[in-house]
Amino acid sequence: MSKVVVVTGAGGVLCSTLAVALSKQGHKIALLDLNLEAAQAVANEINKIGGTAIGVKANVLEKESLEAAKNEVNSAFGLCDILVNGAGGNHPLGTTSNPFFQQEDLSNTVEGFKTFFDLDPKGIEFVFNLNFIGTLLPTQIFAKDMVGKKGCSILNISSMNAYTPLTKIPAYSGAKAAVSNFTQWLAVHFSKVGIRVNALAPGFFLTEQNRTLLTNEDGSLTQRGQQIIDQTPMGRYGEPDDLISTTLYLCDEASSFVTGVVIPIDGGFSAYSGV
Ligand code: NAD
Repeated sequence: MSKVVVVTGAGGVLCSTLAVALSKQGHKIALLDLNLEAAQAVANEINKIGGTAIGVKANVLEKESLEAAKNEVNSAFGLCDILVNGAGGNHPLGTTSNPFFQQEDLSNTVEGFKTFFDLDPKGIEFVFNLNFIGTLLPTQIFAKDMVGKKGCSILNISSMNAYTPLTKIPAYSGAKAAVSNFTQWLAVHFSKVGIRVNALAPGFFLTEQNRTLLTNEDGSLTQRGQQIIDQTPMGRYGEPDDLISTTLYLCDEASSFVTGVVIPIDGGFSAYSGV
């Protein structure tokens, strides 16, 4: 059955792939993004291959912007059945320069060098807001459409960092842990009105956001990039297409008794102790 699907962060690498895959199920897709051009480009691609999609400008951190986006979605397609909370990411201001603190770091004067003690609360706040508030607010706006309807669900995007934090990125790790926790909370909260809430926990995917951290200019892996591969039993980065089948399952009636789960899609990363 054709449903109305709202995807935030839909102009990005992972969620554009999910939006196209959901459109191929016959659903109408509203692609929300701060970057309207990127969202519209994906919508055009979907419409070109016979799907139905619109690009909508929205900031997941502003209620008014989301209300306006909801009006656009409702006028174009009707009430929202499925929400994919895809907008998220890290920021250099929430990141330390080194994985481990050493005493001599206190006297390091290299421009831009950042220890734990230099982390700017504003940077931490930005990352927490983008990932956590950016999941909560769209849910407040779009889940209202789902109350009293059948077959509605919400899909959040967590991360490997939610299980065990990666070095250097405390803000992103904490924020994604909050997303996993919120997924369970919301699943329970909405259980009596039939709205299912689940999440994906993607492993490592090479995207614009992390490319400079994981690869050198010549395309070879950085030390951190290689460490990730070494810790991934399947020995490779994920491809956006790896997320499709789990997304379709969690958004479909096939998972009608599944709520409050966070599914790792990580080539075994979270199962491996490294020994
Ligand atoms: P991406 O940077 O390619 O896409 C993110 C999109 O979100 C961009 O199009 C951006 O314009 C949009 N966006 C940013 N701020 C916004 C805001 N305030 N309002 C609306 N839209 C906004 O990122 P991606 O790699 O495709 O990641 C998608 C999701 O998957 C994120 O939640 C990310 O944290 C998560 N994730 C990614 C990886 C990975 O390896 N890439 C791993 C685990 C989890």
